[in-house]
Amino acid sequence: MLDLTIIPATNAAALPDAPMGLRHWIGGAWVDSADGATSERRSPAHGVPVSVAAKGGRAEAEAAVAAARKAFDTGAWPRSSGKDRATLLLKVADLIDRDRAAIAQQEVLESGKPISQAMAEIEGAADLWRYAAALARTQAGDSHNSLGPDMLGLVLKEPIGVVSLITPWNFPFLIISQKLPFALAAGCVAVVKPSELTPGTTVMLGEILQEAGLPEGVCNIVLGYGDPVGEVLTTDARVDMVSFTGSTGVGKRITAAASATLKKVSLELGGKNPQVIFADADLDQAADAIAFGIYFNAGECCNSGSRIIAHEDVAAALVEKIVALSRKVPFGDPLDPRTQVGAIISPEHLAKIDGYVRGAVAAGAHVALGGGALEVGGLGAQFYQPTIVTDVRPEMAIAREEVFGPVLSVLTFRTADEAIALANDAAYGLSAGVWSRDISTCLDFVRRVRAGTIWTNTWMDGFSELPFGGFKESGQGRELGRYGLEEFLEVKTVQMRIGQTRGAWVE
Ligand code: NAD
Repeated sequence: MLDLTIIPATNAAALPDAPMGLRHWIGGAWVDSADGATSERRSPAHGVPVSVAAKGGRAEAEAAVAAARKAFDTGAWPRSSGKDRATLLLKVADLIDRDRAAIAQQEVLESGKPISQAMAEIEGAADLWRYAAALARTQAGDSHNSLGPDMLGLVLKEPIGVVSLITPWNFPFLIISQKLPFALAAGCVAVVKPSELTPGTTVMLGEILQEAGLPEGVCNIVLGYGDPVGEVLTTDARVDMVSFTGSTGVGKRITAAASATLKKVSLELGGKNPQVIFADADLDQAADAIAFGIYFNAGECCNSGSRIIAHEDVAAALVEKIVALSRKVPFGDPLDPRTQVGAIISPEHLAKIDGYVRGAVAAGAHVALGGGALEVGGLGAQFYQPTIVTDVRPEMAIAREEVFGPVLSVLTFRTADEAIALANDAAYGLSAGVWSRDISTCLDFVRRVRAGTIWTNTWMDGFSELPFGGFKESGQGRELGRYGLEEFLEVKTVQMRIGQTRGAWVE
């Protein structure tokens, strides 16, 4: 018997009687695929069908791009005032709040994440729509009044145009809300493709946008797979920019696909995020944050704090504390409000997670806790045990690659230089953390570690105001904050002569 906290199936009444039917949203109309193709999604935790989505082909993707192009070239949205855009975005935020429970429920059913977490994510998403509304009214260009008495220079910010927004399955509603409100605030129009595994809440967002009065064709949603829908959205010459969140492998393919038409590409990709724990750290606080960082969203999180680099004097004590906390984290039925860790997205992904643990053990690492699928009473075994792997060496796959599961790797160090070298020893550079009571130790780490976000004595806080994105193979460009709007803006320089003071070029 495992000494873990497991929440068995307790909330069968919350399962839907029938799967949600989902259609594409193209040019303001909800449509099925021309060939009638659909794909079914089953709850990873409960095994029952929870959505049946139209499965898009080339025809649907091209129709959506055409609708978006028309809306951008001839429609009112790109030419509307910041005030009007903000008014609509605020209305969307209110409607998200109204529908929060229903959106969270569908998110749980398709992704397997716990309901309490999904509720918090939908609340956070509404805040992003409100924040983007504020940006819509306050963004402005520059003026140059010091170019000489006869010259005035202006720098205008214009919407970049038609943007393809492609999202993953791990935070479906939150991630589209990191992109779409900022694109709309900028005056862009969008074609959205959610993950084939989690299409439901993006469609619910489309319904909200329609209710809020977004003009036809300004946002289009095409459901389906990378091939062919994603391929059309990244190669079609009528698309001006691709904003993608997902794996680094697909991000590289998208960059290559977009290069033929030189679209702007913005990428939020994977991470292998280190947390360095110095000997003077508050180990209790660190252990709690480490447990949060590795088990949040079952570790299926780009910001997963999956690589612990602990000073060798405190590593054993720290692991002991993390093991004790791990036993207390409630794993199980994601529909139960007590649950903090839910199901794994698919059986294939679960096998991949387990493969990393097996590979590490074969390479000489040790499993301090967990290390296998977790059987949850009444729900089956598409869950993974909280797992802590010690004696990990930097060259092992588990230390270098994104496991994307509730699996913590523990490495050790002696000197600060060694710790910083280990932290930087990755192809990724999404986020990193440092734990020390010495501010100089923290600031040295902040300045020398190459990652887009650095947390000191905390992990995975996030704010709409603060930009988010990666160094190295974790991506390019930024979301959130003012930078999140800038990504969707093009810069136009205007040079205006005042009077006829310049001498003739031809005498
Ligand atoms: P994925 O790359 O497999 O898929 C992401 C999306 O891309 C899906 O909608 C998919 O259908 C689509 N797609 C697949 N092939 C495509 C192609 N050739 N052209 C266009 N679109 C294509 O990723 P996933 O498994 O859904 O999500 C997990 C990954 O996302 C992890 O690597 C994680 O780190 C990353 N992620 C990053 C962030 C971040 O902000 N940095 C946030 C969340 C997730």
